[in-house]
Amino acid sequence: MSRARLVLGMFVAFMLAAPLALPEFHVTLLNYIGLYSIVTLGLVLLTGIGGLTSFGQAAFVGMGAYTTAFLTTAYGVSPWLTLLAGLALTFAVSLFLGFITLRLSGHYLPLGTIAWGISLYYLFSNIEFLGGYTGLSSLPEINVFGVALDTGRKFDYLIWTLALLALLSMHNLLDSRSGRAIRALKGGSMMAESFGVDTARLKTIIFIHAALLASLSGWLYAHLLRFVNPTPFSINAGIEYLFMAVVGGAASVWGAVVGAGILTILKQWLQDLLPRLLGQNGNFEMIVFGVLLVLLLQRAREGIMPLVLRYFPAPKKLPQAAAQELPRRAQPACGESLLELTRVRKAFGGLVAVNELSFAMRSGEILGLIGPNGAGKSTVFNLVTGVLPLTSGEVRFRGERIDTLSARAIVPYGLARTFQHVHLLPTMSVLENVAIGAHLRGSKGVISAALHLERAEEAMLLAEAARQLERVGLGPSMHEQAGSLALGQQRILEIARALCADPVLLLLDEPAAGLRYQEKRALAELLRKLKSEGMSVLLVEHDMDFVMKLVDRLVVMDFGEKLAEGLPQEIQTDPAVLEAYLGGVK
Ligand code: ADP
Ligand code: MG
Repeated sequence: MSRARLVLGMFVAFMLAAPLALPEFHVTLLNYIGLYSIVTLGLVLLTGIGGLTSFGQAAFVGMGAYTTAFLTTAYGVSPWLTLLAGLALTFAVSLFLGFITLRLSGHYLPLGTIAWGISLYYLFSNIEFLGGYTGLSSLPEINVFGVALDTGRKFDYLIWTLALLALLSMHNLLDSRSGRAIRALKGGSMMAESFGVDTARLKTIIFIHAALLASLSGWLYAHLLRFVNPTPFSINAGIEYLFMAVVGGAASVWGAVVGAGILTILKQWLQDLLPRLLGQNGNFEMIVFGVLLVLLLQRAREGIMPLVLRYFPAPKKLPQAAAQELPRRAQPACGESLLELTRVRKAFGGLVAVNELSFAMRSGEILGLIGPNGAGKSTVFNLVTGVLPLTSGEVRFRGERIDTLSARAIVPYGLARTFQHVHLLPTMSVLENVAIGAHLRGSKGVISAALHLERAEEAMLLAEAARQLERVGLGPSMHEQAGSLALGQQRILEIARALCADPVLLLLDEPAAGLRYQEKRALAELLRKLKSEGMSVLLVEHDMDFVMKLVDRLVVMDFGEKLAEGLPQEIQTDPAVLEAYLGGVK
């Protein structure tokens, strides 16, 4: 049994015994920690992992609490039905709020969440049938299989059962195809979209997921206290939830419990201690909290969980050799027209980065795209792969126009790329980074992931990632963190990730930059092997020696325009090229 399982077992055993053994006061604390953990878990997903900061979660807690308070007291509806009603209402509201706020970028998103956090609080406070500032009281108790949860001790079991289920399903979700895509959100959407991830949809999903967890916590809260008023759902509470996520460690699911636990216990302790120490009453604990948080942000920005996790090395995700192979697409016949650019133009304001550029390549070819720095090569890649829209012109792939499509919509055509500046997830394993490339070769979504019903597909995806890593020679580094690889190897990782998409055309932007001599030879060998297997490659590279020995043809760019096109030996002796570019090399 792994150490992590042992600790989980001890945790569960403690949770089973605690309500029976502990004094009332400690059970109450445990209840609160459980309630807060559920909300904080949503923030871990949304903020810690997805990179979307929300100050407004307390409003969703209020939504769950008020829905059940109102429906059970005014109409006598069963709490189990009001749970569903609260979740449905939260779903609708968060879908709407997500739609309008998630498109905000930078600090506008947190500001947006503050705005609706405040509005919903005043809504709770001012609606007459919700009891105004006094709130609603005399909520019924919850019955589970005929047992009335009429004490904190009994209620504790319900809270922690639900908290554990939420933790477990979140853990499952993150360890899946969708989970990898969610973890990729933080690095900016460009890379994820370039492998077919619908980042806007995923952001909405994690936003709703976090809101539903908050709403669930609110329902529990309302029936634990059996009365509600607006105070616990104010923006202050929203900030405290965010504190908990940050303190615990916003990027790991157990950080939610750790953060909620530490802050709840600390707050209680300080509330007792400080007034006695200072001889007067007041919310002194908030001042201490503020100072502690600043210190924490300075000393351990990732929160407490990463320090704990050092003692629990993540189990290696061993790809199963027996996993079935993913189906592969039929490659086009060698020599078929593949990519065709016609008078492509891209202007950034007044700067014309690509000017009336036309060239074509055939299937099975390695075409080199060279030119001095700033010639527009990377921009051509971004135009072809849909990362940037064209100003004018046409791009066709196997005869079909792709210049009007988004990056995500182009992936299924069989284009896969690497980036000049590597885009990978440094704390994720090499294997999982590469598996992102196979995103569109799987189809299972978040729900089957949370229930781990997609294990067969996941095994196929990981096996494919492992296969591609072996293919590029990175097999031995499979379980390392991607960020620990040397830059040259990170570029090779990107090639493996692109190969995972089962491409027809591979676009490589300076793959040999940062490689040592032997590594360059190995890369050239790999590209020749890929070509012999029918792969087409569009290659941007600065190392002329490398390019000339490898490519079938070259297109030379200068100042966004095509300067020359031809066989390597023609280009090497072309006077215009020598003049503009190869001057010093020859
Ligand atoms: P290369 O890859 O050949 O070195 P790039 O395609 O990166 O050249 O850049 C071509 C020109 O376009 C450069 O002058 C660069 O500054 C400019 N450029 C590239 N991307 C952008 C952008 N997103 N916004 C504004 N200017 C850009
Ligand atoms: Mg470039």
